[in-house]
Amino acid sequence: MAYQDTSLLIDGAWGPSAAGRWLEVLNPATGDVAGKVAHAGRDDLDRALDAAAKGFEVWRRVNAFERSKVMRKAANLLRERADLIAALMTTEQGKPVAEAKGEALAGADVIDWFAEEARRAYGRVIPARAEGVYQLVVKEPVGVVAAFTPWNFPINQAVRKTSAALAAGCSVILKGPEETPASCAELIRCFVDAGVPAGVVNLVYGVPSEISEYLIPHPTIKKISFTGSTAVGKQLAALAGLHMKRVTMELGGHAPAMIFEDADVEAAARILGAAKFRNAGQVCVSPTRFLVQESVYEKFVETFVGVAKKVKVGEGTDPSTTMGPLANARRITAMEALVGDAVQKGAELQTGGKRIGNKGNFFEPTVLTNLSREMRVMNEEPFGPLALMVPFRSFDEVVTEANRLPYGLAAYSFTRSAKTANAIANAVESGMHTINHLGLALPEVPFGGIKDSGYGSEGGSEAIEAYLNTKFVTQAGL
Ligand code: NAD
Repeated sequence: MAYQDTSLLIDGAWGPSAAGRWLEVLNPATGDVAGKVAHAGRDDLDRALDAAAKGFEVWRRVNAFERSKVMRKAANLLRERADLIAALMTTEQGKPVAEAKGEALAGADVIDWFAEEARRAYGRVIPARAEGVYQLVVKEPVGVVAAFTPWNFPINQAVRKTSAALAAGCSVILKGPEETPASCAELIRCFVDAGVPAGVVNLVYGVPSEISEYLIPHPTIKKISFTGSTAVGKQLAALAGLHMKRVTMELGGHAPAMIFEDADVEAAARILGAAKFRNAGQVCVSPTRFLVQESVYEKFVETFVGVAKKVKVGEGTDPSTTMGPLANARRITAMEALVGDAVQKGAELQTGGKRIGNKGNFFEPTVLTNLSREMRVMNEEPFGPLALMVPFRSFDEVVTEANRLPYGLAAYSFTRSAKTANAIANAVESGMHTINHLGLALPEVPFGGIKDSGYGSEGGSEAIEAYLNTKFVTQAGL
């Protein structure tokens, strides 16, 4: 499919912004303009707010059984269109086409999961103290949701928020990613084509700060969900707090991956290497600090460097590519600054460290050793293909390092000891911990962080709770 320009979706109609403004979309593999995306202004946002308020009144009255059926239809459409959508995603985001297709298919599974949860948004009955009294806990949709999603997973981030909201009976204004708008719009088109009524899902793009500053305080909006950086998340959470809005925040990370001396070191290097370079490291749960017990440090680093060297960097459209370009030029600047700072302070490059060519945003899979805590990269989320190797001696030492940063999103461990596995899972401050395999981010399991990585969950049964109010009703027979 040729790359297409992306319109706004307001009140069931796709179209340009009222002012007719557009933003350019770049292909990160070439730097060329791929197309454009409509740029919403205040008039468009007002229309979206009216439509979403009206849509909420319609959708909350559609029973859960019917909501579920419509959502399942959307999931099937997404599966049918996965190849076409993957091509769009690779053009605008850069990731290999197989990863893009996998994201679309995984998105369909997310919709199915929430379609099932729609039918299980149970309340409960609490035993009363007096005969004839019924104490009911009732779940109600929270209202109109404003959701903000980023460019690293144009479908995955949007589908979690939209599906949970729709399952609960909420309507949504989604501010999609301006840099990767077309694949996100195709996800939303699946909901529309499946029969979600006009106004229930609205999609806008524009200047992120203008949109969030207008929508978050707006009285129509009852719930905010944001995925992105910790810095922006804190600003938006503060604004939401000022207006007493409910919030889900899925923010940055700097995940520790702990390799103990009794682990299968080669398997750990292979599995973690795949996780590190997926989506060129632009993943909030990407393993970043590889904390390796001294006795196996050399072997792990050597094997991991071998894995990094085998990564085939190239255009995502080439089926043999295993790592595409970074999604935007800002990431190249960030990688160069982080690597430069580390090397200048004494870090050693085992492989990589440089931009590839001068066309497109290609960067080498990079492994650094001899790191120290003063280096920026040991403290800031790289959000790119940088792997940091740090030896440790004792359990306490590795726990201290793992918990040193304000982040608390994902953690990874490799050990053959059940005792160590239990102990490390208990000791590390993280929202998720995957041990001896990659087991994060399935629709049916919780997904979210603690500390500066945010709050709330975007997976599992916890995720729909975020879009429900709890109402208590007590009733006596007269
Ligand atoms: P950024 O911090 O400017 O933006 C991050 C995301 O937030 C983008 O999607 C952007 O559109 C959005 N955003 C920015 N300001 C906003 C505002 N005032 N209101 C609403 N949305 C706003 O930086 P960036 O260069 O796009 O990304 C860099 C950093 O963002 C990365 O280093 C990473 O830490 C973080 N990030 C995290 C995720 C994630 O999955 N958690 C995804 C993308 C980016």
